[in-house]
Amino acid sequence: MSPINITTSAGNRAAIAPATAPGSASGATAFKVDSPYVRYTDGAIESDYLYDTTIVSRDTETGQLRAKPTKVHYQFQTKTSVGRVGLMLVGWGGNNGSTVTAAILANRLGISWETRKGTQEPNYFGSVMMASTVKLGVDENLRDVYVPFNEVVPMAHPNDIVIGGWDINSLNIGEAMRRAQVFPVDFQRRVYDELKTLKPLPSVYYPDFIAANQEERANNVLGGTKQEHLEKLRKDIREFKQTNSLDRVIVMWTANTERYADIIAGVNDTADNLLQAIASGHAEVSPSTLFAVASILEGAPFVNGSPQNTLVPGAIELAERERSFVGGDDFKSGQTKIKSVLAEFLVNAGIKPLAITSYNHLGNNDGRNLSAPAQFRSKEISKSSVVDDMVGANNILYKKGEHPDHTIVIKYVPSVGDSKRALDEYVSEIFMGGLNTISLYNTCEDSLLASPLIIDLFMMTELMTRVTYRVKTDADAVEPQWQPFHSVLSILSYMLKAPVVAPNTPVVNALAKQRMAMENIMRAFVGLPPNNEMLLEHKAFH
Ligand code: NAD
Repeated sequence: MSPINITTSAGNRAAIAPATAPGSASGATAFKVDSPYVRYTDGAIESDYLYDTTIVSRDTETGQLRAKPTKVHYQFQTKTSVGRVGLMLVGWGGNNGSTVTAAILANRLGISWETRKGTQEPNYFGSVMMASTVKLGVDENLRDVYVPFNEVVPMAHPNDIVIGGWDINSLNIGEAMRRAQVFPVDFQRRVYDELKTLKPLPSVYYPDFIAANQEERANNVLGGTKQEHLEKLRKDIREFKQTNSLDRVIVMWTANTERYADIIAGVNDTADNLLQAIASGHAEVSPSTLFAVASILEGAPFVNGSPQNTLVPGAIELAERERSFVGGDDFKSGQTKIKSVLAEFLVNAGIKPLAITSYNHLGNNDGRNLSAPAQFRSKEISKSSVVDDMVGANNILYKKGEHPDHTIVIKYVPSVGDSKRALDEYVSEIFMGGLNTISLYNTCEDSLLASPLIIDLFMMTELMTRVTYRVKTDADAVEPQWQPFHSVLSILSYMLKAPVVAPNTPVVNALAKQRMAMENIMRAFVGLPPNNEMLLEHKAFH
């Protein structure tokens, strides 16, 4: 396999064309913080941060709630050197895999192409990190100052990512891009020669987990036992890292949706049982879980971009034990993203959604795979929990246990190809028993929505590998140890339909809250207070 090596610092490609992407190279930041609570040391940014929170309790005698403002003293340390970073995609030859690879190549080399409307330049639109901004503060005239999201703290630039991966289909990435029919033909011509040299590694194929209609693609598969597969995948990750002189590798599942794995006591419920189940070749260990375990054991963060329950309890326990990172599930690209905005708006406006009915049809290979009932079921589950937290947060509209009707239908219609159609109807109860119906029709190029999410997940995950924290108290006799964040990266939730969170912690689906969490946690890393929209400076007399 030859990975796509698109570094800025070395290699002959750097000389071919300058990067034209917005932002600059890996590690660039837009500002320095002037504060006694922030230290720029050799190789790191250290911040002291008071985390303001409110602890609520109920008076046992009167039943009244009591709210107590509380401060927790965190220290964060963010290593500033991004180094050389790699991304290994499982399902590299799929629509998402080939699209994100071609797009990064075009951005890196500044490849433009002709369309009916004229010349199109490459960009990173749709990536929250690369194409959106956050408010840094206000200037001396009280005007807002915004900076690129990826320049709040040092982050990897997508142009610098070394990409490789696996696929059960042997097609090179040039041909895979053609098969995907996502990009216009002039674009395909301009990147084809580069991409045709890239060949996916053979992968693990257990036919029981993906739809039977995928069988004809499976011509690049590993023989041997499950244990041998695990060892081979671990070796692949190690070799990729070594051959490309990488400091870190992140593994991401963008392969077909699998059926749910049964959670069986003694098989995948604990870390040891899962390892034992792999060793004994238990049928209920899916390919995606095998990739997760291989990544965890290699210390490579693993992110699941598909809906199935890859991160079984045993995998999460293993990640915790190994202090390795995992994240998932299912890229939140189109319909669900809108749902996580609209449902929040309705419920927070005091309007009560009674029924949310969602139809999809799509004609790409993902749609073909999802036309099988067991794989559709995985998608249905991942799409269905998206309004739970919003409903649960409003006990005026919803009684305990009450929930809006929520129906999801997905159909495979080959002729629409990658251009997915989503039709949604929201029926809500308004004032005095009235009804309001909102109907949405959304046409979106599926892989062009999902690919920037792969980039954002990569960038955020990579950042978290360089951050450590400690909590300080007045009672500390010795300095507490720096430690990494929890293994389950819930900070990735913005990009994911059914966020996996650490055991016994709440899931947040509301998009605005998810973005706020990323923004304010990154601000905390450089000792800045959380952004809020109080705008007191504009509301008070000066
Ligand atoms: P795709 O069918 O075009 O690509 C999947 C690729 O995975 C194929 O090339 C296939 O050969 C390969 N594959 C299957 N099993 C494999 C295995 N065990 N190991 C290695 N490779 C394997 O699908 P896509 O459109 O690229 O979507 C990929 C995944 O992302 C799907 O599960 C989809 O549900 C999920 N997803 C996509 C979107 C989106 O495109 N908007 C949004 C959310 C989630």
